[in-house]
Amino acid sequence: MLTSCERLKFELMTDGMRLSHPARTRLSGSDGQQPLTLADYATTSGIPLRLPGDIWVNVPVAEHNPNFVRNPRHVLDWGAEGFTIRSDDATIPAEPIPVPECSQRLNSAGQPHAWYGLTHTDRVRISPIGGCANSCKFCDLPRTSKFARKRIDLLLECVRDALADPALPARHVLISGGTPRPTDYGYLAEVYAQVLAAFPTTPVDIMMLPLPGLLDAADLHRKGANELCVSLELFNEQARSQLIPQKAAIPIAEWLAFIECAVQTVGMRVRSLLVVGLEPVEDTLLGVEALAERGCEPVLSPFRPAPHTPLEHVAPPSADYLADVFEQARDIAARRGAKLGPRCLPCQHNTLSLPDGSDYYHPWTH
Ligand code: SF4
Repeated sequence: MLTSCERLKFELMTDGMRLSHPARTRLSGSDGQQPLTLADYATTSGIPLRLPGDIWVNVPVAEHNPNFVRNPRHVLDWGAEGFTIRSDDATIPAEPIPVPECSQRLNSAGQPHAWYGLTHTDRVRISPIGGCANSCKFCDLPRTSKFARKRIDLLLECVRDALADPALPARHVLISGGTPRPTDYGYLAEVYAQVLAAFPTTPVDIMMLPLPGLLDAADLHRKGANELCVSLELFNEQARSQLIPQKAAIPIAEWLAFIECAVQTVGMRVRSLLVVGLEPVEDTLLGVEALAERGCEPVLSPFRPAPHTPLEHVAPPSADYLADVFEQARDIAARRGAKLGPRCLPCQHNTLSLPDGSDYYHPWTH
């Protein structure tokens, strides 16, 4: 049974919120120039909030998601008690997370810092590849950014600036971005090596497909990678072929074999995202089971329809649906000695995960 704050997280994720005038002025400044959110990607399009109990949630707003945020009943307000979420008769304290200062600056080459990487909550995500060689139907990246390889020295500069940001210092790093073309594999391996060598005391995770010739778990483990994120996205074969055709070209059995080897032979921590709401729930739960029994941490990512994608008018799953999937998945994982990820509490802002009082879930500090 979820607490009222836990339930509120799921409602905010799917229904969104509006801002009262005092809250908007407080966050965006009297001149209205301070951005409320970086809104760079489908699942980070909203305003991150921290709720009581260290519950983190990324809340969509109509400015960036007019395709589904309409007349939300939750309101972010500002008054004598600070920031609160007002919902019908209930009022709950909330802490909006600012955007990093460096996201508004140019780098040493005169290019937007944000083109190289962005910090959400406590993690800077750098994107060596702009755009993507793939075209998953729910993803705006290949539709809004041109395919490009970025300078490695400027990616390193981006991480250094993010770690030292005065408004929102990053505590850890994710190397993510779009999928490379085969001719980029050597470049991307060099990015991994240089970032891991440059920041040896900062946890660095790597998110990538299990592409033969690129993702070498043993090598990355030796070089100090903290964790791999190898995201299946969907488990239903038909949904995979329709919605993630290039990823579906790698059979599920190969994904699972890669994950199993990385966890059990290499000794690497691996997590894998499953999108909730685009396939029958039974398939999502089978995916959770398959990952958990291989020692991989399943991460549930609620589908959020992104503008400029073929799925922009598909409704997101309801809060009841999310709560049901969460509770069933949590139980399935627990029966296999696993928990739903991610472990980092601030990074839970756009996933179906909640703190459980154990120290399995924690913020990064350094
Ligand atoms: S592979 Fe990743 S970045 Fe590329 S289109 Fe699919 S979800 Fe988007």
